[in-house]
Amino acid sequence: MKIFSILFALACLSLGAEQIQNKPNLIVIMADDLGYKDVGYNGCTDIPTPHIDALAKSGVQFSSGYSAYSVCGPSRAGFITGRYQQRFGSERNPQYRPEDPNMGVPKSEKTIAEVLKPLGYSSKIIGKWHLGAHKETHHPLNRGFDEFYGHLGGSHYYFQKEMKFKDSYKLTKDKEEIQQMRTWILDDHTPVQFEKHLTEEFTDQALDFIERHQEKPFFLFMSYNAPHTPLQPAKKDLERVSHIQDKQRQLYAGLVVGLDDGVGQIMKKLRDCQLEENTLVFFMSDNGGKEKWGADNGILRKDKGSSYEGGWRVPFLLKWKGVTSPSIYDQPVNSLDVLATIADLSGAALDPEKPLDGVNLIPYVTGAKQGSPHKAIFLRGGGSEGSYAVRMGDYKLITYNGGTCHQMFNLKDDISEEKNIIKSFPERFTEIDNVRAEWSKGLIEPVYLGLEHTQKFKENNKKK
Ligand code: CA
Repeated sequence: MKIFSILFALACLSLGAEQIQNKPNLIVIMADDLGYKDVGYNGCTDIPTPHIDALAKSGVQFSSGYSAYSVCGPSRAGFITGRYQQRFGSERNPQYRPEDPNMGVPKSEKTIAEVLKPLGYSSKIIGKWHLGAHKETHHPLNRGFDEFYGHLGGSHYYFQKEMKFKDSYKLTKDKEEIQQMRTWILDDHTPVQFEKHLTEEFTDQALDFIERHQEKPFFLFMSYNAPHTPLQPAKKDLERVSHIQDKQRQLYAGLVVGLDDGVGQIMKKLRDCQLEENTLVFFMSDNGGKEKWGADNGILRKDKGSSYEGGWRVPFLLKWKGVTSPSIYDQPVNSLDVLATIADLSGAALDPEKPLDGVNLIPYVTGAKQGSPHKAIFLRGGGSEGSYAVRMGDYKLITYNGGTCHQMFNLKDDISEEKNIIKSFPERFTEIDNVRAEWSKGLIEPVYLGLEHTQKFKENNKKK
């Protein structure tokens, strides 16, 4: 009997270890509009980012890491479902419409939190949601998350004194887009007030969540709204970048150092809780930086909103202590791969009718698998008649004006996309464009209007 008990105990221990290994925790730290060159490890010299750099130095740096799109909403729709967002019509930046159940990622798609829930994961999103503001349909608690602390819209002020509207759902309809930036922060469904700078507040929430979930698998989507506008850094953070002469960049930099502090504190909490070897940490930006708001995408062409590299090639890191080695990985990857990675590792059940577009990156970064994870990586904006970009091997094809204009670049030789080589390589163009055409067969037209259709957007454009 005694021997049986010992054997049983050993079996339980072994099962426990296996379960833990098979269900690693996942933390995704997503910055908002962070430029490719606004982190030290990518060559930034004026903004100190020691904690992001430490993560980069000890993790995998994806030199060709792409967001799913070049602006927030569609990028996050792709990330959260692991599928190209154009497959289900989330192709535009959603408007803030708490009265509209169709303004957000359709319920027919599963979010990463919904995929992980049946496996016993506890999930929390902290920060920016921007995937629909309808309370019953799109609130994170109705999309698989157990906890939410943040704001439903796409941008937000950083100090409590700016929060003029307690109720996130009762805004003046024609001013919703402006007022949503000033709503009280929601703790699940409860409007709450906070004391610190919003970035610090979000970080505190993350530390608390990790502390409370050490025993069972968890998924934390750390969705900082920094360094997105409005550029309102904490005073102490602004002082740390007072050497920057350009006022706009100085304000932006203040938000970046606050974000960097958050990354450092989250990684320290993982170490303190001895969870590093059981937790995958991704760090990325949801799209490229906007240079007129102070960001710097370095040698990449253009910025947020563009199909050129500056729009969607972003700082992108992965660390899983004990599994990944410090390295630079050059093959193209994208944010859709996060869901596929954790789903594969944890054995999540997936809907065969809705195949993922991402792939598990772990075998590639460990060297167990060779070659490129993706035949190609795609971008489309503006519906079937809009613009496309395809990254395939060293080549990048851009198609716009309803398919009448094309540009092709060899990124290996020309990362800044300065030399259009399309006339020199007609066969390569045809090959990539055929891949693009095949991919686009699986897409639908946008299912909701975007920010570009709002009065505020039109007025802003008129001012320029
Ligand atoms: Ca963004």
